[in-house]
Amino acid sequence: MRTGQTHLFIPGPTNVPEAVRQAMNVPMQDMHAADFWDLTLGLFEGVKSVLRTETGRVMFFPGSGSGAWEAAITNTLSPGDRVLMARHGQFSALWVEMAKRLGLDVEVIDVPWGAGVPVKEFSRRLGMDTRDEIRAVFVTHNETATGVTSDVAAVRRALDENFHDALLFVDGVSSVASLDFQMDAWQVDLVVTGSQKGLMLPAGLGILGVSEKALEAARTATMRRACFEFADMLAMNADGYFPYTPPTQLFHGLRRSLDLIAAEGLPGVIARHRRLAEGVRRAIAAWGLPLVAEHHTLYSDTVSAIRVPSGIDAREVLRIAYEDFNTSFGSGLGPLAGKVFRIGHLGDLNEGMCLTALSVAEMALYRAGVPLQLGAGVGAAQAWFASGAERRPSVRIAAE
Ligand SMILES: *Cc1c(COP(=O)(O)O)cnc(C)c1O
Repeated sequence: MRTGQTHLFIPGPTNVPEAVRQAMNVPMQDMHAADFWDLTLGLFEGVKSVLRTETGRVMFFPGSGSGAWEAAITNTLSPGDRVLMARHGQFSALWVEMAKRLGLDVEVIDVPWGAGVPVKEFSRRLGMDTRDEIRAVFVTHNETATGVTSDVAAVRRALDENFHDALLFVDGVSSVASLDFQMDAWQVDLVVTGSQKGLMLPAGLGILGVSEKALEAARTATMRRACFEFADMLAMNADGYFPYTPPTQLFHGLRRSLDLIAAEGLPGVIARHRRLAEGVRRAIAAWGLPLVAEHHTLYSDTVSAIRVPSGIDAREVLRIAYEDFNTSFGSGLGPLAGKVFRIGHLGDLNEGMCLTALSVAEMALYRAGVPLQLGAGVGAAQAWFASGAERRPSVRIAAE
């Protein structure tokens, strides 16, 4: 018998704000109606401002982040095209796998799970590619499996320094609308995200930001695509319509979540994620447990992947948290299964919710046999939150 609320601290789907849930509770409507654009056109603009782009185009495909990946690849590349990718966690590994399945010639750089995108090695490969055979470089901005945020701007510099004109693809699924992401400033050609992470919605929308250069590439790309064809989507989107039935409830929810983000301000959203993440990390340090992320410059402000001591099964920690304390945390993915558990701290979240997560994690770790002092982690996070430090944005964010 479960009583009270079941807590969700996984890195997607994230908690949906009550206001967003209410906004989605509306009757079905006619997607061909004369005023349907009234709902949709503003959404493109709203997502553009979250992606920090003026020149890019936004598209919504039914699907999730994975569908958006597929749309990005199939619309802009041709079979056999060479692409440069790093594999440093489950999501970058899945992206590599998809690129291979779709017939791309994938140059994979394997780095330890816990490292970031190897910018120097990217730069070296780009420098060697004097015939511009590499058509696209892929970056997983925030590797959700390891809690590692990579430096997209540095990858852009590596491209520029080598006078290389490959497209820059970014998986922003667990960074957009929660970490600093700047499509125009970093000249990102294709960014993908899903509705169920920073945008605080149910899953169901694959969202893309597409640069003019990527649209140009789409004109000659020969990979097969049908349902995910950019040209069909853009032709209908121009007036606020869609080539097939769009998920209107999600659009109503998105309208509300964009309004919430605008009210807090994107810099405020980013600063809040940083502040909450710092509290979580202080708790983890107080438990004496290491993060998977190798270096503090890589720490993700949306998810923390925590190693449990050898001899302890992280799955047991997850089981206790869920069965005994009504709380979900993220599991260790791929080779990290059993060794790692993850706390998702993105989306609609505040200090009290983080303290709940930490309190339950602490009890579950304790019961699973991790030698820690109950209250140590919670106290460390409380000390941070109570200090009121970092109330102001500490990340440097270019003028809105
Ligand atoms: C969640 C996630 C995905 C997968 O998205 P789906 O919406 O589940 O398809 C891809 N990349 C990253 C970095 C993610 O966090």
